[in-house]
Amino acid sequence: MLKFINKIVSSKNTRLLKKYHNVVQQINHLEESYKNLDDTALLSKKDQFKERIAQGEALDNLLVEAFATVREAADRALGMRHFDVQLMGGIGLHQGKISEMRTGEGKTLVATLPAYLNALTGGSVHIVTVNDYLARRDAEWMGEIYHKLGLSVDVVVSGQNNTERKAAYQAEVTYGTNNEFGFDYLRDNMVFLPEQQVQRGHYFAVVDEVDSILIDEARTPLIISGPSEASSDIYYKLDKLVRRLKISIDTGDDGDYTIDEKARQAFLTEKGHQVMEDALIKVGLLKSDESLYDLGNIGLLHHVGAALRAHSLFKKNVDYIVRHNKVLIVDEFTGRVMEGRRWSDGLHQAVEAKENVHIEHENQTLASITFQNYFRLYEKLSGMTGTAETEAQEFQDIYGLEVVVIPTHKSMIREDQSDLIYMTKEEKFEAIIEDIRSSTGSGQPVLIGTASIAISEHLSEMLRKEKIKHQVLNAKNHEAESQIIAQAGMPGAVTIATNMAGRGTDIVLGGALEAELSKANAEQHSAIRADWKKRHQQVVEAGGLRIIGTERHESRRVDNQLRGRSGRQGDPGSSQFYLSLQDDLMRIFASDKVQTIMEKLGMQSGEVIEHPWVSRAIENAQRKVEAHNFDIRKNLLEYDNVANEQRQIIYKQRKELMESDTIRESILEIITEVSEAITERYVPEAQLDEQWDLVGLEQTFQQEFDLQVPVQTWFSDTPDLSASALREKVSNLAHATYQEKENIIDTPQLRMIEVMLMLKALDYHWKEHLANMDHLRQGIGLRSFAQKNPKQEYKREAFSMFESMLDTIRHDLVSNLMKLREPPITLAERPPELLNNEDFSYQHQPTEDNFYSQNSDSTPPTQLASPLQQQAKPSPIKRKHAKLGRNEPCFCGSGKKYKHCHGRA
Ligand code: ADP
Repeated sequence: MLKFINKIVSSKNTRLLKKYHNVVQQINHLEESYKNLDDTALLSKKDQFKERIAQGEALDNLLVEAFATVREAADRALGMRHFDVQLMGGIGLHQGKISEMRTGEGKTLVATLPAYLNALTGGSVHIVTVNDYLARRDAEWMGEIYHKLGLSVDVVVSGQNNTERKAAYQAEVTYGTNNEFGFDYLRDNMVFLPEQQVQRGHYFAVVDEVDSILIDEARTPLIISGPSEASSDIYYKLDKLVRRLKISIDTGDDGDYTIDEKARQAFLTEKGHQVMEDALIKVGLLKSDESLYDLGNIGLLHHVGAALRAHSLFKKNVDYIVRHNKVLIVDEFTGRVMEGRRWSDGLHQAVEAKENVHIEHENQTLASITFQNYFRLYEKLSGMTGTAETEAQEFQDIYGLEVVVIPTHKSMIREDQSDLIYMTKEEKFEAIIEDIRSSTGSGQPVLIGTASIAISEHLSEMLRKEKIKHQVLNAKNHEAESQIIAQAGMPGAVTIATNMAGRGTDIVLGGALEAELSKANAEQHSAIRADWKKRHQQVVEAGGLRIIGTERHESRRVDNQLRGRSGRQGDPGSSQFYLSLQDDLMRIFASDKVQTIMEKLGMQSGEVIEHPWVSRAIENAQRKVEAHNFDIRKNLLEYDNVANEQRQIIYKQRKELMESDTIRESILEIITEVSEAITERYVPEAQLDEQWDLVGLEQTFQQEFDLQVPVQTWFSDTPDLSASALREKVSNLAHATYQEKENIIDTPQLRMIEVMLMLKALDYHWKEHLANMDHLRQGIGLRSFAQKNPKQEYKREAFSMFESMLDTIRHDLVSNLMKLREPPITLAERPPELLNNEDFSYQHQPTEDNFYSQNSDSTPPTQLASPLQQQAKPSPIKRKHAKLGRNEPCFCGSGKKYKHCHGRA
């Protein structure tokens, strides 16, 4: 079946490539005549194309000429003439697809083609890279081409102020990271004046390393938050308490908690729950007649969950490091330290308490968005990567992005050897050292990929003992990371790197020639070149770059990325993964299967096997984890979609408000609506007049709007006053009173005050609403046990909460306006300053700290550790799976027996 599907996909790809090939021939056809153009003529192409677009010509019609222009400019500016396959990749991007191009195929150069073409429309073109270093490098490097084309280019990176950012977005092409683009979007929707906004729309985006950004990083949203006042005390107290808890290894032992490494969750056992409650009562965090599971203690339960997870699942030097008295997160995929990032929901504080460092204050969410929803803002989205095919389905489903696989410029000759599996980690590492020794003996450079800093360090220690010279590339020296990786192709070089450290930097066999040349003066160049040539030849003869993987990653894609660092542009090379039965992936996901196979094959300690059965079992395990992670992302998206609709309404409203000089008409309407609604509450049309609450009505208007409404007098003057007539009178009075404000406040000032007060009300309640939505998710999590579909419930409630938020905003606004006595100086004379960025923190949680429950597709993204909720009694637990026997395989697909897996909790 799979083969069949592959065939369909590949024949579709072939058809597409055939079409692209035709276009490429047309571009090639123009080459000679474009070579004869002088620089000015090349430059003026831009205006000519723009003119044709203005005349109504379609962008697609210009592709051939525009690409020919870019190619000519690139050749002149950098001596890099786009290869035919690069033109194909460019066509894919222009068509809003993902162009899968192997590492080293020159994707940086490819992006210039659609960037130029699409910038001709005047719309914003954003090129998205995985880090600031690459954004800067690419903008500078490709900048020479854009310069020849008369196109402005700039870059947004962290640390810039708003003026710099705004200038960067004004450029025709803007480079930057996904985080910068996403955060700028959120920030633009928090300012008070249009001129404080930095972005100018979302027309076309090319996302480089699209799989990292739209898949790996898309498991958690971007969040901007501001400080809130929670006490540090509770974290230290809870930390002390959970330290006393004992882990439970087997069912039936008397441990206090169990852990699920796969879901990265910790669960209190029944006994642990009791122990914890007693302890909490003793330290005064819980009253003696209360339970941890009372709704009122949701916050406390949440903190307990965080403390437990901090202790049992988050490891120092793997998940985080402690530096200068701070807990710094280490990115699971890149191994880089993520400066300034914090886990949300009190987890970071719990880890800080565990490490006994200063606890930074918990933050309140001010704005948030997922990458999925951010990137869907673009009219046209495209991407490139060396590894998209395994996730093609997801790109299609979530982003509507089709993957087109572009052939390589030269054929790939890297030799990918099949996995070697050892019984223990120890044996595995010894074999790795042996491999390094024998490879480097002939001058072959070796790049060793690891999954964590801890493993990098372990390996480094072993190599040190063996006196093998090597470089370690991980979060601790990431500034130099790109230079180190550039030299990883030197003869006999040994480089250890966490999975993606240094991604995006070319490894040239024999070392980075360009870097050497740029440091030397001209007369030394020929000697340097000759020397490099010798080294290059030596490395080629030794077999090119050798890649060693120290374990399999959860995702096949990440393994492919590691392999892809070798064998670029037709280079020789080889790759080999070393595994052991003790590796996490094997232990957690494939242990039973592989163990059985090992036994069948009669494998003994000290032996190594290499067998397709095992490789298949591992691949299946990886597929399972990939699918599991896809579910998490889909789940995140489904919940974020609800918030997204609301966010769009609010942001649209804000934008209109900011851009309008007056909202007087709307204000008057709102005054009518609000006063009528209140009147209706006290004087319902459907009730007899003796049931009306005229006193209450007068009081409410007095208290909330500082407005005297003499309804009792009106009523005694006109006893047959109808409810509707009364409503009208109240509303007229409110209008007349508001009209008087024009006498005390200057009219233009009052117009501005109206806008500002409206914006403030909107922001204040939207922020509250975001917090309420978080609580709703928690509440819905509990409710799912009461036989209800949580997603439906969530949608329904979120909708009604949103409606009531809009009511509250209107009510508050009218109240503030009616109470205006004199011009509030600060508001009227000085519009609010641009938001002070320093007050905010920008988070994109790494994937360990899943926003969402990882346990099932129907559990909502609760911020409260959901497994703890599983013990929330006494509501009947709805089984989501048929009842399983204790010895049957677990429903989750782990391959373990139910009693050893989910049945244990
Ligand atoms: P990728 O991002 O696809 O891994 P890069 O954009 O880093 O690849 O480019 C890899 C190397 O190939 C760079 O050193 C670049 O200079 C070189 N290169 C790419 N395209 C061309 C070309 N058309 N002509 C010459 N060199 C090229």
